[in-house]
Amino acid sequence: MFYIGCHLSPSAGLLAMGKTALSIGASTFQFFTRNPRGSRARAIDPADAAALVELLRHSGFGPIVAHAPYTINPCSKDAHTREFAQMTMADDLVRLEHFPGSLYNFHPGSHTGQGTEAGIALIADTLNAILSPEQHTTVLLETMAGKGTEIGGRFEELREILDRVDLPGRMGVCLDTCHVNDAGYDIAADPDAVLTDFDRVIGLDCLKAVHINDSMNAVGARKDRHARIGEGHLGLEGFRRIVNHPALADLPFVLETPNELPGYAREIALLKEMRA
Ligand code: FE
Ligand code: FE
Ligand code: ZN
Repeated sequence: MFYIGCHLSPSAGLLAMGKTALSIGASTFQFFTRNPRGSRARAIDPADAAALVELLRHSGFGPIVAHAPYTINPCSKDAHTREFAQMTMADDLVRLEHFPGSLYNFHPGSHTGQGTEAGIALIADTLNAILSPEQHTTVLLETMAGKGTEIGGRFEELREILDRVDLPGRMGVCLDTCHVNDAGYDIAADPDAVLTDFDRVIGLDCLKAVHINDSMNAVGARKDRHARIGEGHLGLEGFRRIVNHPALADLPFVLETPNELPGYAREIALLKEMRA
């Protein structure tokens, strides 16, 4: 099954977001759990959430991805910033119980000068404070471009976080093709080599979702600027290799390219066509 979709806004309501996904040929999607800048979340209307879940089930959707605000930082040197991240993530996990079986993706964070090891320990502390055996959501660490003091640019760093988590069964990884490219993994030229490395360091069983983005920058640039599919350094042939790699066959693919809905619809059609 090829689950493909894009980032959508829940502003018109949850069911409306599912209908929008259907209208552009998507079979999964991603949405921010709250304003991406991290402010207060709107209360979830349980009837609206149930209607969305029913629509997705009837339409054969793959797992959907909720994205934490990108401004939270669970490994900041500032204790208040860390507390805010933990509180936000804990609240998001409660809200996501309306969507059992969904994925919750977050950026591991930036150590802001404390060093990678200290940052990794703080991220694991945050996860250990919020994960529970009862939750029906899998929490995903996103692979990052490694800009600034960002953690998660190396697969080894994500492995170290997972090793320190008390409930590793509630965790996974989301691979962002733009980010890994920028972090130095040539996923477009040789996805097999990158995924073999991922398997050796993290384990492919931990890989739960893919962010499918082209990159405005070359391999190893450590920049994180997304491009439309085929308009960046990964290129169309790179994406043809990526969407057809057997290790990714059953995962949800989410576009986070600079597009409005018609552009997303075109990229979804293009990637479906590429998938052999
Ligand atoms: Fe992200
Ligand atoms: Fe991403
Ligand atoms: Zn990005």
